Amino acid sequence: MRPPIQNASSRPPRGRVLITGGAGFVGAALARRLVEAGREVVVIDDLSGGRRSRLPVHAKLDFVLGDAGDPDRIIDLLQGGPRVTQLVHLAAVVGVRRVLADPEGCRAAHERLGASVESALTAVAADRRPRLWAASTSEVYAESPGTLSEGSALRAVDGRGRWAYAGSKLAAEQCFDRLSRLWNVAAAPVHLRFFNVVGPGQDADSGMVLPNFVESARAGSPLEVHGDGRQERTFAHVDDVANCLAQLLDRPLMPAGPLNVGGDAATTIGELARLVNERAGNDSRIVRVDPRRACGASFEDVRRRVPDLTRLRELSACVPSRALAAIVDDCLAAHPRATALAAGAGRNACASPAS
Ligand code: NAD
Repeated sequence: MRPPIQNASSRPPRGRVLITGGAGFVGAALARRLVEAGREVVVIDDLSGGRRSRLPVHAKLDFVLGDAGDPDRIIDLLQGGPRVTQLVHLAAVVGVRRVLADPEGCRAAHERLGASVESALTAVAADRRPRLWAASTSEVYAESPGTLSEGSALRAVDGRGRWAYAGSKLAAEQCFDRLSRLWNVAAAPVHLRFFNVVGPGQDADSGMVLPNFVESARAGSPLEVHGDGRQERTFAHVDDVANCLAQLLDRPLMPAGPLNVGGDAATTIGELARLVNERAGNDSRIVRVDPRRACGASFEDVRRRVPDLTRLRELSACVPSRALAAIVDDCLAAHPRATALAAGAGRNACASPAS
């Protein structure tokens, strides 16, 4: 069952857009798209996981090197300069490898970032309060054999290990919802539940499955597939997601609440591995590995994670739909034809199909 639309903002949307974590993979694609469309954008990023070079040099784009976990930095950006009408909160610790390395650190970082955004939005005058778009994740959903709509069953917020990421994203959703009752209606948050956003320039280091496959294929190393490789996922091109978000940001009326964002053409991880090898013209083998060996004894994989995009289709004419082969081609084209990536086999150690 879909959750009811809680609030709708009719605030004129064409002000400045503030993106926390905007030098990251999704944030930079969104910033590029927005400035191309004539929007003014300001990015705050501490470059802990992002890269300044992802962002174009553009008269309409300001970059602030800083910690989005410091509310005073956010307040300054909201109160000073041109009015910010949209705050897209993407800053996070991302990637199963980073989360597994320090689950509690991931949880603490997300709590701190969420608290910073909350206190900034609470502190600024109501007429300077932007609408909030906060990145959540498909990992908030409990395992389900069907498609996942925004009303599907959720995980617990106190998840351990890899679920610390999902738990902290879900806790942030709930906290933003509670606080939005104190804010004006315009600030009512949209929780962007992303399903595997992929594309050129995504870091393999984070442990995301497609960049790892691409890196291995380019290095001529075996592609490591977890378990039987029948886990089902969907993949959306980051530029298509950026187009979709840019269009949503332009809506004069936007319902608050959770929103699935991604593609909905399901594939298995084994099929993805075969496709990457085929498109790379590579005969490197596909090997099965036990994810618990690579990611730790308590690692839990998810069999199927496929979104129901009905709500997104109601709100946007730009739902990501690029074919997987075209997405893979784009990733391969942007990847250097590495000849000396022998270390690539080790990098594949915990490449999870989940995000
Ligand atoms: P990313 O790691 O590329 O981007 C996150 C950015 O946040 C990085 O640039 C990092 O430097 C920045 N950051 C982290 N802590 C910060 C801090 N304290 N202050 C300022 N900046 C900080 O990840 P992404 O793939 O672009 O993901 C963007 C958002 O979408 C994240 O919130 C992520 O959890 C969510 N998400 C992404 C996917 C996906 O498939 N890419 C899936 C689900 C959810």
